[in-house]
Amino acid sequence: MGKSSLFNRILGRRAAVVSDREGVTRDRHYQTATYKGREFTVVDTGGFLPDDTIDVLAANVRDQIFTAIQEADLVLFMVDARVGITKLDDQFARMIRKLDKQCLLIANKSEVPEDRAESWEFFSLGMGQPRTISALTGYACLSLLDEVISLLPKKGQSDKEEKRPIRFAILGRPNAGKSTLLNRLMGEERVVVSDIPGTTRDSIDCTFTVDGEKFVVTDTAGLRKKAKVEDEVEIFSNMRTEESIRRSDLSILMIDATLGISEQDFRIIQSIRQAGKGLIILLNKWDILPDKTEKSFDHMVKAMREREPLFEFTPILSISAKEGLRVHRILQEIKTVYANCRRVIGRERIAEVFAEACQKNPHPAHQGRLVKLTRACQIMVEPPVIDIETKTPDAVDESYKRYLLKTFFEAFHLNGAPLRLNFDTKL
Ligand code: GDP
Repeated sequence: MGKSSLFNRILGRRAAVVSDREGVTRDRHYQTATYKGREFTVVDTGGFLPDDTIDVLAANVRDQIFTAIQEADLVLFMVDARVGITKLDDQFARMIRKLDKQCLLIANKSEVPEDRAESWEFFSLGMGQPRTISALTGYACLSLLDEVISLLPKKGQSDKEEKRPIRFAILGRPNAGKSTLLNRLMGEERVVVSDIPGTTRDSIDCTFTVDGEKFVVTDTAGLRKKAKVEDEVEIFSNMRTEESIRRSDLSILMIDATLGISEQDFRIIQSIRQAGKGLIILLNKWDILPDKTEKSFDHMVKAMREREPLFEFTPILSISAKEGLRVHRILQEIKTVYANCRRVIGRERIAEVFAEACQKNPHPAHQGRLVKLTRACQIMVEPPVIDIETKTPDAVDESYKRYLLKTFFEAFHLNGAPLRLNFDTKL
């Protein structure tokens, strides 16, 4: 592919003065380079992909790449201009986009002008304009390096400090208390409010900062200014809800505790899950719940879990948006769920938990035949997806899937995250 050539070109030629620093970790190669007086660390994961021999991400590679991307301020994503987009490129592009990192798309092997002309095809990866270079001949490598250092954060302003805001939607039936909650969240003294236009016509996103953490509430048009009753039909129409879910990292579903959870709520939950987004459930109007006792909350949650077992791993809070009861816990919960959605679980940790789960409770035989699950590996974040290898994916029992989900939720602290399991013949 040419990753190593580029790596060497960045590190090894006149352009960059190399000093070997952190050296070599087991799977990632770190080196410090200086170019035009700027010092930066290059992390190379290139050695792990057996070039051209696979077209899906090998299990042992994903972990390293996840980690390398997360650590980096800038990702150079290299594709082969002569080959065009491969399935693997697609997978990488998705992963990088999810991790929301600054990225330059590099179409390598572009020494021949005709190949450069073809590079427009890479636009479809959704990573912007491809930079055509040739690591081999050095074509356009210096201008790439110039661009790289211009994009790297100056000392002391790493992009880790410039965290992107957590985006969430407040959903629920009319009168559940969504506007009241929004106003309360925005009305806090510490909060700085600004309205920014969303993507849908007349949708408004609100931004606020609490204790240095930035939040965006998506599509608040109908919530800020109390809409007239007839408008609500439109405002909470399915399309609008879907759009709001899609543009958020997670959703808060508000339920009027005095009325209980409705079919419409379940439909919203379904949409949130399908979109692969985080979920927090709020039981609102706790202040006016009739016949309230210490056990009311447990009873209500238990009934909800009986109907939907996955609620066991969904944060549920009883609050009063009007009185402010436990409202301060909501933002904390949002931060936790957001982190859970982005969690990268170490390869060895997954292997360990998976092996233990299979040993403790092996998969029952299917039509007299053994169902063997051989390996588990995380392939995605946001949503977290764990692939499980088995020769017989169709024979995997539904209740066994739930057992594994439960095990993973508990072991990896994924509450609120839409963890998915895939069963596949090959990882
Ligand atoms: P939305 O349609 O979901 O935005 O609901 P609103 O925020 O407009 O609330 C509908 C009604 O419920 C209003 O009269 C609110 O004052 C009331 N309300 C909202 N939250 C609470 C709460 O926690 N307790 C009580 N008692 N009333 C609430």
